[in-house]
Amino acid sequence: MPGLQTLYQLQVAELERADVARRLQEAEGGLGETDDLRRVRADLQREESGLTALRTRVRDLELEVKGLNGKAAATEKRLYGGEVRNPKELASLQADLASLRARRDSLEDTILAGLTEMDEREARLRELRGRWQAVQSAWESRQGELQASVSALRAQLAELDERIARLRAALPASLLEVYDEACRKKGGRGIAAIRGGLCEGCRVSVPTSIVQQVRGGEQIHRCTSCGRILCVVG
Ligand SMILES: [Zn+2]
Repeated sequence: MPGLQTLYQLQVAELERADVARRLQEAEGGLGETDDLRRVRADLQREESGLTALRTRVRDLELEVKGLNGKAAATEKRLYGGEVRNPKELASLQADLASLRARRDSLEDTILAGLTEMDEREARLRELRGRWQAVQSAWESRQGELQASVSALRAQLAELDERIARLRAALPASLLEVYDEACRKKGGRGIAAIRGGLCEGCRVSVPTSIVQQVRGGEQIHRCTSCGRILCVVG
């Protein structure tokens, strides 16, 4: 049957096309941000905003301490300045001063704790930044590789499409019809070469007389076991 060799080439091209299409889909699926990248970035952002909030809180407390110190100085001045002599008023000023100082001391403790926490958070942030850089640069280089594969696979696919169209155009419609039908039933392998006397599709031996007839090429022969169109390649 003239055209069987071409039909076999068509199958090779179509199987290769399916493989390239699958690899392309896989590569395209890998493009874009990964869960790991998003997670590390979210951790980093959370740590950065946490540290910013802490810095603001400590700065506010420091300002409050400054204000309390100012008030305490003014109270002290009145207390020891000699202008106030009334014992009741003096006692009240004394109480105010003690309360201002107590409040300031408590704020200073909070500030100290805040500064310690800030050190810890800064260390954590440095670690996260290092991790982010590593994850991001690995991701970028992987994306670069994937982009390159996607381009190469797309080019390969276009070439295969052209080859398939050319091969199909060279084959009689009736033969293509039989082949396409067989391909649908046999996972894209509608034609099988006879190799070493066996059908390559199902590994069942083909009678020598049939091999001769297939070689003679008068008509289409199908494997009696798997139903594929038989051909002799080479
Ligand atoms: Zn077979």
